[in-house]
Amino acid sequence: MRLILLGPPGAGKGTQAQRLVHKHGIVQLSTGEMLRAAVAAGTPIGLKAKDIMASGALVPDEVVVGIIADRIEEPDAKKGFILDGFPRTVPQAAALDELLKKKHLKLDAVVELRVNESALLERVETRVAQMRERGEEVRVDDTPEVLSKRLASYRAQTEPLVHYYSEKRKLITVDGMMTIEQVTGAINRVLAALEADSAAKAEKKAATHKPAEAKKVAGKAKESRKAAKGTKKAAKKAAKKGTKKAAKKTAKSAARKAKKASKPAGKAAKGSKKTAAKAKTRAAGTRTGKSRKVAKKAAKKGAKAVKRLTKRR
Ligand code: ADP
Repeated sequence: MRLILLGPPGAGKGTQAQRLVHKHGIVQLSTGEMLRAAVAAGTPIGLKAKDIMASGALVPDEVVVGIIADRIEEPDAKKGFILDGFPRTVPQAAALDELLKKKHLKLDAVVELRVNESALLERVETRVAQMRERGEEVRVDDTPEVLSKRLASYRAQTEPLVHYYSEKRKLITVDGMMTIEQVTGAINRVLAALEADSAAKAEKKAATHKPAEAKKVAGKAKESRKAAKGTKKAAKKAAKKGTKKAAKKTAKSAARKAKKASKPAGKAAKGSKKTAAKAKTRAAGTRTGKSRKVAKKAAKKGAKAVKRLTKRR
């Protein structure tokens, strides 16, 4: 799975990203953290980024694009990743599109955490207090002054990405004002729906194009033919038990119907999985366990049909 987490500073991207990492076994790629590491290590990139970051402005696009391009090449990112803090500008998003296209990789979704700006300062203050409590070094850009600058950068340069990804039908917006657990729940639900949807699409595609899948479908078709046979037998039994001629007639016609239903399923082996499923469903209703009841019902129906026929004649 490849995701982007989008949201202003303090929206909870980092917290949710960690939870997604656990759930999906993918890596979190945070440009903020990578840049902070570069600053701490005093690398050329770090030296370039240090003052920009401290002021709350954005580091040049080519710097972060370069970092991400290298990072997604690493083996641990093969299974998927969550981008946190990247892309932050439209040109960065365009560069990411190019990068993924070159590698034949698909972006699954962009999760936007929407929060009221008034809550952000408080959240960041809490984060600072908690970091101090744990004895961790507090970020130099986590001050009220720099935060307002970071928010301004977000509004001007990053928020346009909401529109960018919504146009590409990638955007999922989650209310970031709920509790951490609730936000996680909401994200998991939308991602599960997304996964189910793409699995269904893949299955459909496989049934149409791949012989192995077609074989599976063919198996289902066989099953439905078997069920049809079973129905015939069971209906015969029911007919013996008292529903007489009409039951026999209906049993035969039920069996014929089921058989007929299984034919398109056979065809489906070559192409349409849908037809096979339909045939299976039709035949399933007449399987042995239920057969007596079904046969009786069928017998009744059959009798009615016979009556109708007679009338018409
Ligand atoms: P926040 O908590 O504000 O989301 P991050 O930890 O993601 O912040 O990033 C901290 C700083 O690192 C940013 O204010 C910016 O200067 C720099 N930075 C991080 N990611 C990017 C990016 N994609 N493009 C430009 N600058 C970035």
